[in-house]
Amino acid sequence: MQITAPRGTRDIMFEEARLWQRAEEALRQLADLYGYSEIRTPIFEHTELFVRGVGEATDIVEKEMYTFNDRGGRSITLRPENTAPVMRAFVEHNMGAKAQPTKLFYFGPMFRYERPQAGRFRQFHQMGIEYTGSGSPMADAEVIRFSLDYFRMLGIKQVKVHLNSIGCPECRPRYKEALKDAYRPNLEALCESCKKRFDANPLRLLDCKSPECRALVPNPPDVEDFLCDDCLAHFTKLKGFLEALSVEYVKDPRLVRGLDYYTKTTFEFTSEGLGSQDAIGGGGRYDGLVGEVGGAPTPSVGVACGMERLITVAKAQGGLDVGPVKPVAYMAGLGEAGAAKAMELAFMLRETGLAAEFDTVGRSLKAQMKYADKLGARFVAIIGDEEMSEAAAVVKDMAEGSQREVGFSDLVQHIRELMGR
Ligand code: AMP
Repeated sequence: MQITAPRGTRDIMFEEARLWQRAEEALRQLADLYGYSEIRTPIFEHTELFVRGVGEATDIVEKEMYTFNDRGGRSITLRPENTAPVMRAFVEHNMGAKAQPTKLFYFGPMFRYERPQAGRFRQFHQMGIEYTGSGSPMADAEVIRFSLDYFRMLGIKQVKVHLNSIGCPECRPRYKEALKDAYRPNLEALCESCKKRFDANPLRLLDCKSPECRALVPNPPDVEDFLCDDCLAHFTKLKGFLEALSVEYVKDPRLVRGLDYYTKTTFEFTSEGLGSQDAIGGGGRYDGLVGEVGGAPTPSVGVACGMERLITVAKAQGGLDVGPVKPVAYMAGLGEAGAAKAMELAFMLRETGLAAEFDTVGRSLKAQMKYADKLGARFVAIIGDEEMSEAAAVVKDMAEGSQREVGFSDLVQHIRELMGR
């Protein structure tokens, strides 16, 4: 029986893999410009990290983690996100002792046991940055602007920026109470998840997608009216900085996001053409997380974006347009001696940095010509018995339709000359 890839996973290959390489290159380039260095953390961590970091009452921890006991009886989880691991590394390597801030970026696979659908996978990839060691709203503005610059590099146009603040442990409790007061009269009519959220995680009542729940409380209280002085000042300054950096945004009072660690700023990016899974990225400030994973309290802000979605949008908008890699030259050998020579010449070209191919499956000359054309080789060198005796190949320039006999030892120079024209 044939074995297929597990549900919710996919193979990235050929031209699509090239798009991914481009997207990764763009990220590295932008990270250099902005001063973020790469961090590669393990794919699996102690389960406890996510329970404490992401939060017990979140969808991720409650029902989406790939958790198992290893052979040593430890509870291990495939990372469902990478902010908690990066902060774990921040603490473990005492990065806070260095001059702050610490600016890190990452790229890699994440794992969530979700219901697969368009744009939603069980293994997916995220790029992200974490700006640690600054509580300034300037750091928030930088993270948001970095993301937008990245989208632009991928050729993605028209990204909508949703912005909100969810306050801090000082002011959020008052807001939670106000929310519960607003929802309480309709508690019985709410969906099952909202009934649970009402006590466990009332902020998440706001991002329930059910139209019925939304209709029951059409105008929930706005968090902005409940922020403490510090949170309000932070939010106001951030909006000013975003304007200074020409970032357009919409205030979205329902944007609370699914992870528990956020404080103050939350934001999300959406793009058209993705259907219901239209969020290409999101993030926010998480001043409490480093403390949660055992370090000294360290203010931080970060973003994570879904690569599958970014690449889908980039492809649709023609921003990332790469074809297959084409060999410069195809060495078409005939007969045993000609085929062996073709191999040798191909390696000679490769040594000088020219991409070259040759036949290893015994095609006829006609079939080799056809295959060279399919690969998109600009030059084909034919090496048969006659050519062998003259130590020369017939070189065809497929772009110009011309051909010439060229001595084996002049082949590289000849091809380079034609390329230079
Ligand atoms: P989150 O870590 O939940 O804040 O998600 C950040 C971004 O990752 C989202 O905006 C999506 O673009 C992407 N993402 C999250 N979950 C998935 C998934 N299951 N499949 C594909 N992309 C995802």
